[in-house]
Amino acid sequence: MFRHKRIKQYQIAHKTVKVKWVDTLIDGKSVGINYLGDNRVEIVKYNIKSNEAATLIHEIVHSILDEMGEKQNERFVQGFSELLTQILLTAK
Ligand SMILES: [Zn+2]
Repeated sequence: MFRHKRIKQYQIAHKTVKVKWVDTLIDGKSVGINYLGDNRVEIVKYNIKSNEAATLIHEIVHSILDEMGEKQNERFVQGFSELLTQILLTAK
């Protein structure tokens, strides 16, 4: 059902969030960053596609919480996005 691809943007409520696939991020160690106020996401390109999917969904969950006016709890985002990624990638 769900197949990962390097999407260029996604829509959330009235906003369009641009997604850029990069070799490294500004801090040299993170794999994804969501510039929430700026409606853009950057994700490091991997060889293993499932990691790209997990990182993309992680950043999407940040966008959802922001849109809902909820606080950005990294532990929640990590756990929720990992499980959602598994569900999407294993759904038949
Ligand atoms: Zn995060």
